[in-house]
Amino acid sequence: MKRGRFLLGTIAIMDDSFLSPRLRGLQPYVPGEQPQIEGLVKLNTNENAYPPSARVRAAIIEAASHGLERYPDPESWALRRAIAHHHEVDPSQVFVGNGSDEVLGHAFAAFFQHAPARLLLPDVTYGFYAVYCQLYDIPALPVPVDAGLQLDVEAFAQAAGQPEGCAGIVLANPNAPTGQGLGAEQLRTLLAIAPARVVMVDEAYVDFGGESAVDLVAQHPNLLVVQTLSKSRALAGLRVGWAVGQPELIELLTRVKNSFNAYPLGWLAQQGAIAALQDQAHFEQTRRAVMRTRERLAEGLRERGFEVLPSLANFLFARHPARDAGELAAQLRQARILVRHFRQPRIAQYLRISIGTDAQADYLLHALDGLLAQAGGTADTASG
Ligand SMILES: *Cc1c(COP(=O)(O)O)cnc(C)c1O
Repeated sequence: MKRGRFLLGTIAIMDDSFLSPRLRGLQPYVPGEQPQIEGLVKLNTNENAYPPSARVRAAIIEAASHGLERYPDPESWALRRAIAHHHEVDPSQVFVGNGSDEVLGHAFAAFFQHAPARLLLPDVTYGFYAVYCQLYDIPALPVPVDAGLQLDVEAFAQAAGQPEGCAGIVLANPNAPTGQGLGAEQLRTLLAIAPARVVMVDEAYVDFGGESAVDLVAQHPNLLVVQTLSKSRALAGLRVGWAVGQPELIELLTRVKNSFNAYPLGWLAQQGAIAALQDQAHFEQTRRAVMRTRERLAEGLRERGFEVLPSLANFLFARHPARDAGELAAQLRQARILVRHFRQPRIAQYLRISIGTDAQADYLLHALDGLLAQAGGTADTASG
């Protein structure tokens, strides 16, 4: 067979015979669009509505003037101390990575391949988890969220009791893309379901009103909590995430990391991240502004007939009973507003709308007024 890329009509087909057989058919994660167009209202990837702390820029400029000729500290101790201070844990309980996606990737490689036992995860959650399962050949069992799209702890307990056994649990809390969260009591139940396996809680959005599991780490050797600077610290471009767990789990993660990339975090990223963690005032001010706008936008959407799930994150998950979500997303795009729409079972009629500034919320609501005034396909009759 001819190798490489060839065109069939307008569809590019990639011959994957160069690829290791186990990875053929791998479907990579597709992040939200990052268009290089000025003037778009970008509410599709949950970036922060506000710029990061000014101290980050100052720290990076300062760091750029010395030290770039050397490899950075492979274990990132200064940054780990800053994160440990923030969570009131020991630096030996902190693992850092190039964005929390990398931390998650290492954790999937390290902890969840126990075939035939299956990794339990909600059927509606962050799309990257399924990709890591494919990449690392981890059998997974999606556990249905309930009718309100809330994680169902009882269903997890039942799934863990199946004959194949449980290879661990992964969840996002608050969940993505629903924005709904679990409390400490429900997290304790999940931890008890799989005491001999790792339970990983991805807290990418926890600073917008969720309840963190970090306080449970001391009592639970199987708990790994993952956080990031990307959302609540407005540093998606810096690529810094971390995990908190007992030192034994951190040591195992470090072994995997050192078998992959000994220097995942650059010197500038480490210094910028430390500065971000030190500016508590900026953090409090911006996350509170995001939460205020979230409640305003939720109210505005409800007034326009949307059903809006209660959100503990910097986005809303909403559906309009009379409008097809895919169509609405396309119409908003024409109005220069980007929101996220997932063509997936159970959530195909929802839009995920990142929380921007108040002005962006008003702009969105105004655009919706125009669109909803027009006749349009309904959620029930429209195709797709
Ligand atoms: C955004 C997001 C991440 C990725 O964060 P990075 O630190 O930017 O890699 C991880 N998990 C969830 C649920 C997210 O929404």
